[in-house]
Amino acid sequence: MMTFNYSNPTNIIFGQGQITAIQHKIPASAKVLLLYGGGSIKDNGIYQQVTQALSENSVLEFSGITPNPTVEHLDKAVALAKAQSITFILAVGGGSVIDGAKYVAAAACYNGTGWDILEGKHTVDKALPIGCILTLPATGSESNTASVVSKAATQDKLAFLSPTVQPQFAVLDPDAMKTLPARQLANGIADAWVHTCEQYLTVQEGAWVQDGYAEALLKTLLRLANTFEQQDDQWRANLMWSANQALNGLIGAGVTQDWATHMIGHELTALYGVDHARSLAIIQPSLLRNQLHLKQGKLEQMGEAVFGLDAGKDLAERTIDAIEAFYHKLDIATRLTDYGNNKQAAVEAVLAKMEAHGLLAIGEHQSITLEESRTILQTAIA
Ligand code: NAP
Ligand code: FE
Repeated sequence: MMTFNYSNPTNIIFGQGQITAIQHKIPASAKVLLLYGGGSIKDNGIYQQVTQALSENSVLEFSGITPNPTVEHLDKAVALAKAQSITFILAVGGGSVIDGAKYVAAAACYNGTGWDILEGKHTVDKALPIGCILTLPATGSESNTASVVSKAATQDKLAFLSPTVQPQFAVLDPDAMKTLPARQLANGIADAWVHTCEQYLTVQEGAWVQDGYAEALLKTLLRLANTFEQQDDQWRANLMWSANQALNGLIGAGVTQDWATHMIGHELTALYGVDHARSLAIIQPSLLRNQLHLKQGKLEQMGEAVFGLDAGKDLAERTIDAIEAFYHKLDIATRLTDYGNNKQAAVEAVLAKMEAHGLLAIGEHQSITLEESRTILQTAIA
């Protein structure tokens, strides 16, 4: 196990009926900017619960944050936050709204162009305080330091990390999930699955605790997929908690991480508009087969511990087959089929973006060069 320095300062408020607790978490004197997406929170009553809880506060609203939020749209919220001297950001939504809130919180404290933050030209050292109410369990954004933002004009999708944008609190009310379409629920399971794999399917280094936590999460996510048609309070609570735990820093502490699937997947989303989780399902099986020689030991461990496969011949290959079957069970495709009509042009377009973003040697061993990425993409694009 490697040395690490771990803390997760987000206060998680978990359970049905907990949205009302935000009135005790935001100072009465705060000038709040309420951020949300396309309106699902108005259809399911969450908006009404939030405004009721904040009736003592001064609240401004900014809505319309889209999946894969764009800097073009978010910069309008940054301008509003600056002009109105906002002192607290409240995000109500899924990963896109929460990631957008992190960008707004950081850019509101910066005098330059906000996109500098995504390009690494400005290191965030200050941000407005953030709280969030999660409506879609998937990304873990509600209690981590990461944010992913896109630039529509150039089809770029980039991430930044800063402890200053980690939410102070996150309300996880599983009832918020009741209006989620099956597609988004499946996406949530798949994204949390890949987050766990990015931190678990790496070199074996005797991290029994982290491996054990990761295996518990993977087994839970597999069970959620296998019982997808039997959703009840317990099913929703377990999805909300496992997706949170998959990317809150805990299972990744002290172990080697990978993230190559996410890096390539982001380019597919930016270029072809694929849902984030679906981009990962397209890349991961192909990437694991390409990196089998380096990941064999951990794949074999996963095969036995998570899928209950028999030890013996081709266990690592059978584990990857089982991962692919897990996605298919969720009705998630593992090939990109909607890319225009020229497969090679699509592969080259993704590679050109990766080169521009400096993704020349990625993965836990930096063994995925652009040539390896080409091989991975050729299999992943049908
Ligand atoms: P999302 O993009 O936030 O939301 C997807 C859709 O679900 C939206 O159309 C939204 O509609 C709808 N929705 C959300 N909650 C709902 C509810 N309770 N009922 C009905 N509809 C609901 O999805 P996401 O998967 O959570 O976030 C994906 C983004 O997060 C991507 O940009 C990805 O790159 C990023 N990401 C971030 C991290 C991180 O650590 N920060 C990690 C992985 C991925 P409304 O707009 O109407 O609400
Ligand atoms: Fe993700």
